Amino acid sequence: AAQPPHIRELLIRRGKVLGPGYQLFYTNPVEVVRGDGVHLYDSTGNEYLDAYNNVVSLGHCHPAVVEAVTRQLSKLTTNTRYLQADLLDFSERLLATFPAELDRVTYTCTGSEANDLALRIARAHTGNTGIIVTRNAYHGVTAEVAAFSPSLGPSSPLGPHVRTISAPDPLRHGTSVVADLRTEIRAAIDDLQRHGFGVCALVVDSIFSSDGMQPVPTDLLGVLAAEVRAAGGVYLADEVQAGFGRTGTGWWGFGRHEVVPDLVTLGKPMGNGIPVAAAVLRNEVGREFGRKVRYFNTFGGSNVPIAAAAAVLGTIEAEGLIDNAHEIGAQLKRGFARIASDHPHLADVRGAGLFLGIEVTAPESTEPDRVLAQSLVDDLREHFVLVSASGPHGNVIKIRPPLVFDAADAALLLERFADSAARVLPT
Ligand code: PMP
Repeated sequence: AAQPPHIRELLIRRGKVLGPGYQLFYTNPVEVVRGDGVHLYDSTGNEYLDAYNNVVSLGHCHPAVVEAVTRQLSKLTTNTRYLQADLLDFSERLLATFPAELDRVTYTCTGSEANDLALRIARAHTGNTGIIVTRNAYHGVTAEVAAFSPSLGPSSPLGPHVRTISAPDPLRHGTSVVADLRTEIRAAIDDLQRHGFGVCALVVDSIFSSDGMQPVPTDLLGVLAAEVRAAGGVYLADEVQAGFGRTGTGWWGFGRHEVVPDLVTLGKPMGNGIPVAAAVLRNEVGREFGRKVRYFNTFGGSNVPIAAAAAVLGTIEAEGLIDNAHEIGAQLKRGFARIASDHPHLADVRGAGLFLGIEVTAPESTEPDRVLAQSLVDDLREHFVLVSASGPHGNVIKIRPPLVFDAADAALLLERFADSAARVLPT
């Protein structure tokens, strides 16, 4: 269908003023003017069911955050070079959600900055520079972090100190995932040592989002962390996607994996839309960095972002959102599995909590079908449901709604998904 004139005009204006590298979702882009809970609205009043935004994990414009930010903005906003009880109150509450060994926190504004800082800390601690990530990982935008974010593609080259290993993929590995990846990480470690980099860090997104969302096996990360530690490196859990209850069992995605990281990075949902992120670490891991380096981040840990983060933490607890992610996530997984059983192109339904992936392939096969996945995403968008697709082949439908998604929202999503699948997928 032809785009309405006001959409065409926005596209033209966008092309004239925005810098390089921006991308829009959907073949037919969505204009948004307002958000409320699990819904987004366009300027003609259409209501979209938002099953994709994990930053506003309390829902769009949650009143607790709006109120906390407004109050703080009219009272005080400054930086961490002053003594402030609010910052310490929040830090104590945040650290209480972690295993006791992870007892220090440094604030940044974005997940990329948190990873950048965590790597500098890890380098000072280990004296090594080698980094191991999964084959289609994404960890952020700074030059340092982009150099270990292979999902950015061949035009954004990996650093000479970076090695990749496969992400788990039970659909293709079968039952040998842990053994296969142990072999791969040993080879990566050997190679880093042979090239003189040594092993600084294994960096893993605890839900492997850009690798296509892989919630299992949960005995994997402990095994990989042990290999890296034996070689003198540390294990950094990137919780920018998986954190703050999204995976439905406890606060942190690594918690599903029977392992305690040396460093953890947080971001996205931490402020429900206000930029606030952090690196959490074991005190001893930060010691060497602290001895040598001065770290000051103008907005990191300033009052307004911390007020937002405190409201988020309190609301996740008060509204029982981790349990909700678990329950509604299970309802969705069951529902999608039922739909997939009618469609040979839907090869796998997987996920943890409210982070689900549905893999689209050639029928009864593991051959990825990106085009069909994109058609499903676009068809859902035409029917006012917002999701996306991810993974190394772009063929895994990514479902990641605000944590306040309820049973009725889930039922509507399943109904619309079943309708789209019937329209789009060949029988
Ligand atoms: N790590 C992961 C796993 C991410 O998904 C992202 C953002 N997509 C980042 C880090 C970077 O976060 P930010 O965009 O806030 O810099």
